[in-house]
Amino acid sequence: MNFAPHSSLREAEVNDTGCSGSIALEEWLRWGCVSPVPAMVNEIIRDLKLLENNIDAHMVFGGNGGKLQGDFKVQEDKKHREKYLALGDSDKKFQFFSARQIACRLLGSRGYLCQKCWLPMEDCMCSKVEPCSLWNGIRFWLYMHPKDFLRQNNTGKLLWQVFGVQAAILCLYGISEDEEIMWNAFKDAGKARVCCLYPNQNIAPKTAQDAFSSQSSADLECTHSLTNRDRPLNFVLIDGTWSNSAAMFRRLKEQAKFVWGEEDLPCISLAVGASAMHKLRPQPSWDHTCTAAAAIGVLAELQLLPEYSSYGLDKQAEAVEDALIVLLEALTARRLRMGRSITRKVRHSRNIC
Ligand SMILES: [Zn+2]
Repeated sequence: MNFAPHSSLREAEVNDTGCSGSIALEEWLRWGCVSPVPAMVNEIIRDLKLLENNIDAHMVFGGNGGKLQGDFKVQEDKKHREKYLALGDSDKKFQFFSARQIACRLLGSRGYLCQKCWLPMEDCMCSKVEPCSLWNGIRFWLYMHPKDFLRQNNTGKLLWQVFGVQAAILCLYGISEDEEIMWNAFKDAGKARVCCLYPNQNIAPKTAQDAFSSQSSADLECTHSLTNRDRPLNFVLIDGTWSNSAAMFRRLKEQAKFVWGEEDLPCISLAVGASAMHKLRPQPSWDHTCTAAAAIGVLAELQLLPEYSSYGLDKQAEAVEDALIVLLEALTARRLRMGRSITRKVRHSRNIC
C-alpha cells in the first residue's frame, strides 16, 4: 500500500560477523544510532540464531524490512511468545517488544539497505543529500518507533543525514540504552530547555512564537536558553505513525514525571511551518505525520523572530526541504522502475512520515 519494496524473500545475513550473528558496535553506529548496541537486541539475535541451528530452518525475511517468513516464522512465533509471557513486569515486556522488532529489522536489512539513507542499495540517494550545519543553539531528538526504524520512507533519518548524528539524535522508543542517553541530556539541560512538538490536549498548545519570542512574557527562561550557546534547546520530534504517537507521548510524559516530578512536558505546535510546506505535498494529515516537515516548521518559525533571525535557520530549513525532495524523487523513481503506480502516493497520506 505504500513505497514498500517488492516482497522478495531475503535470507538473513548472519554469517558475516561470526556464528552468533550479533550486531557489532560499528555496524550499529552506521545505521545512524548513537548508543551502545542494546543488550536486549543482541540477546534476541543470539536466540534467533540458536533457534535456526536447532530447527534446521533458515531465517528468511520479506516485505518492507524485518518481517520473518515461512517455517522459521512459525517456530519463532511460538518461541518469542513464550519468552514474552515469562517476562515479569510490563516495562520489560514492552522493551522486549521494541528490541525484537529492531533485531528483525537489522537482520532483514543487512546487505539490502544502504546504512545511511535506509533505501535499497540500488536506490541509494546519499550522494544527492547536501549536508548543512545546524545552529548549535538547537538540538533535535528523533524519538522513533521501532516500526519506523530502517523504513525507507521515514523522513526523520533525513535530519541526521543533513545535520549529522550529534545535532539530530536518534532515540529508539523502548530501547533503554537510547532513552537513557536522551533523558540524561534533558536532565542536564533542565526542563525549560526541552520542548516536544506535540499538541498537548490538556492545555492550549503554544506556537514556537509564543514559547520563544522575547515579546512574550512567558518562558523567558526558554528564550534565555536559546541564546545560551553552551546549552542548546532540545526539540523532541515524535517519529512514528499518528496512531503510535499517542503512546510514545505518554511514555515521554511518564519519564518526565520520573525525572522532574511532574508529568507536564513542555509542548509546542506549529503555526506556519506545516502550511508553508504544503506546496510540497498537499495532504491533509501531512503536518501530523511528516517528521522532517515538523523540523522545517520549527526552524522556519524561529527564523521569523528577530532575536533568532541571524543564525541562518532559514537556510537550515531549506537544506531539510531539499533532502525531502531528494527522498521523494528516489522513492518515486523506485516505484516507476518497479512498474508500480505513483498515483497511489497521492491517495495514501501515510506514505511519508
Ligand atoms: Zn544511501
